[in-house]
Order: sequence, then structure tokens, then C-alpha cells
Amino acid sequence: MQDIISIKDIDITNKKVFLRCDFNVPMDEFGNITDDRRIRSALPTIKYCLDQGCSIVVASHFGRPKNGFEEKYSLKPVAKRLGFALGLDVIMANDVIGADAKDKVAKLKKGEILMLENLRFEKGETKNDEALAKEFASYADVYINDAFGVCHRAHSSVEAITKFFSEEQRAAGFLLQKEIDFAEKLIKKPTRPFVAVVGGSKVSGKLQALTNLLPRVDKLIIGGGMAFTFLKALGENIGNSIVEEELIPEALNILKRGKELGVKIYLPVDVVAAQSFSPDSAVKFVTSQEIPSGWMGLDIGPASIRLFQEAIIDAQTIWWNGPMGVFEMDKFSKGSMKMSHSIAETHATTVVGGGDTADVVARFGDADEMTFISTGGGASLELIEGKELPGVKPLRKKDEWL
Ligand code: AMP
Repeated sequence: MQDIISIKDIDITNKKVFLRCDFNVPMDEFGNITDDRRIRSALPTIKYCLDQGCSIVVASHFGRPKNGFEEKYSLKPVAKRLGFALGLDVIMANDVIGADAKDKVAKLKKGEILMLENLRFEKGETKNDEALAKEFASYADVYINDAFGVCHRAHSSVEAITKFFSEEQRAAGFLLQKEIDFAEKLIKKPTRPFVAVVGGSKVSGKLQALTNLLPRVDKLIIGGGMAFTFLKALGENIGNSIVEEELIPEALNILKRGKELGVKIYLPVDVVAAQSFSPDSAVKFVTSQEIPSGWMGLDIGPASIRLFQEAIIDAQTIWWNGPMGVFEMDKFSKGSMKMSHSIAETHATTVVGGGDTADVVARFGDADEMTFISTGGGASLELIEGKELPGVKPLRKKDEWL
């Protein structure tokens, strides 16, 4: 795969930049931003553009608005938070390609930042509409994509827009570059031993990633709900635990391939079993062989935590994607908490997939200890699956000899 065109490879001096960010941040019911990591992660690119004398049109989506403008999906609070982070006023447009945005873009001066309203207020955005992309392109001389979390989607501001900028006018921002560098290093030349820790609810969501990783890892640790499909494949009684019966042959295949490849595969040896899927349920610690009928495993047990800790102790690279249990309920969050602490304490390069796993690490106070936490759940998984992302492909350098 060719290298990515970096923002440093092109001349952006004194240019007007269209900067696609992923500011799809979590908000509480009062409209407060509860985690501004995605905003902070965009600062290096924004500051670099300002240092080069640019004016910046910042564009992002936020949530899933259905029918044009809706106040609750407005990016106004995000513009405010970005302004605080930069110590600058961020000008807010009231629309995306309407008269207000166009007027404000036209008046934008060097060193100023304008934020467009939520791109998804325009229906064409998620349809990769070229007419909409052309409107976006008319706003700027240069296109910079720093929106890793949405690069697995062919959307107007991510894919179609690149057709309107030459190779000298389009590039990846620092965050996007970092995301791709970390994922490619994991896949191509991880420092060994390389341990993948996977969890989450389903095997189906991670099957392709597991298949792509298996020949590359030294150890594979499987926790979370997905472990039960493997345990059932091995003949255990898993009670009412979550299972994907149709994937049992795949699970067996992964175990067999792992053996052939010399990959050490670890499954939970005990679980926290509950009578119902509820924070008030009665619970007990049982071995994986003794889950009572009618009960369900909602977290890994203490012996599994010890086992997994032992298995990662010599790791030089760890990739973690998926919680070890139903971490949203305190009673079933200990496995994920302990794994988070243990991974953070190793001397390995630790790469955390986005989404739920990033939430786990932040919630248990380990974020600063990890080497890299991806800002995109789905996009991060697709990179590990070995896929080329539609938002990244147009930013690859062409073969020099072509
Ligand atoms: P995923 O989106 O596939 O990474 O799954 C994340 C979800 O898996 C979280 O919401 C967890 O609550 C859920 N999860 C983890 N362990 C279990 C389990 N043992 N049973 C049911 N759900 C689980």
C-alpha cells in the first residue's frame, strides 16, 4: 500500500482549508460534551494550519439527524468547546451550504476558523453526493481529512470531495496519519510478542479482524460475550449466555488454525454468572465448566483475570478491542477494569480500538497510560481487518513510476 499524502507534503501557506474533522462527541441530556477527546485530537492539525497562515473551514457530522436542521444536533456547543481549546473565537455558520455559510466563508480572513453546521443536515452527505461535494470544494483551495472515525464511510465530505482537489491540494491531517500509521505497524511489523485481546458482544462483529490477525499474533485472548460461542464450540454448557450458534464452526476453525499457526489462544476459565441481564441480578463466580443452566456469563471471573494478566506480561505489542464483560453495569465491569489496568501496566506498545474499549479505558483512568487510543471504533476495526477505507484511498500517493 502506498504512503499517505501528509499535510506536510503539500503547500498550504496562506490557503483556505476545508478541514473535515470527526467531532461526533458524546453529549449528556443537558447538551454538555462529556468527552472532548475528538476535539482535542484535532488541535495539532488546526494549529499547524493556523501557523501556515491559513483560514479554516471546519466541517463535521454529529449524530444522525433525519430531516435537516434539528437544534439537538447543532454543532454550536462543539464550536464553543473548540474555541476554548484554541483560545480563539470560532465563527459558527447557521447552515452547511446555505446563504449564511457561503457569506461567512467568503468573508473568512487569514487566521480565522469557521465551523459549518452539522454536515448531515444535508441529505446528500451520507449518499456521497457529488453536487454537494462540489459545493464543499468551492469553499477552499485545499482539502484536509482528519476525520478518522468516518473514513470507513464513502460520504460526500470524505470521499466524493477528493475528486475536486488535485494531489497537491488534498492530504491527511496529523490525526488521520497517526491512526493509519499505528494500524499499519500492527498489521505489518509489530514488535513481538504481539497479543490481541478481543471482547465485546459478538464473534460476528470481529470475525474478519480475528481472521486477519491470527497469522500475525503470538497470542489471542478472547473475553466478553463472544467467548461463549467458543466455549460452546468446545462442548461447555454455557446456560443462557449470549451465543451465535451459526458461528460455532467458525469458532472451531479459528481454534484449529490457531493451533496450526502456533498461536496461543486463551479463553475465560471462569465467569461472573447472573440469573438475569440486570444490575440487580443475583451473581456468582463459577468455572466455565459449571455455568448453571438458566444463568448467563456477564463478565470474566477472577481466575480468568489472573490468567490473562499472566498471558500479557511478556507482550511487546498489545491490541485491545472489546470489553471483557457488560461493563456498563458496575457488577459486571471488573473484568474490563482489571484488563484495562493490566494492559496499561505492561511495557508493551498498547493500541486500543475506539468505541466501547476507549470508553472503558477512559472510565477506569488508564487513558494516559496507553500508547494510542483510536478515535474511531468501526474505522479502526476495518483497518485491522485489512481493508482500504474509502476516505483514505484517495489520499494515498500514486506510484511514482506510473
Ligand atoms: P461490541 O460492540 O461487539 O464491541 O460489544 C460491546 C458490548 O458487548 C458492550 O455493550 C458489552 O455490554 C457487551 N458485552 C460484553 N460482554 C458481554 C457478555 N458476557 N454478555 C453480553 N454482552 C456482553
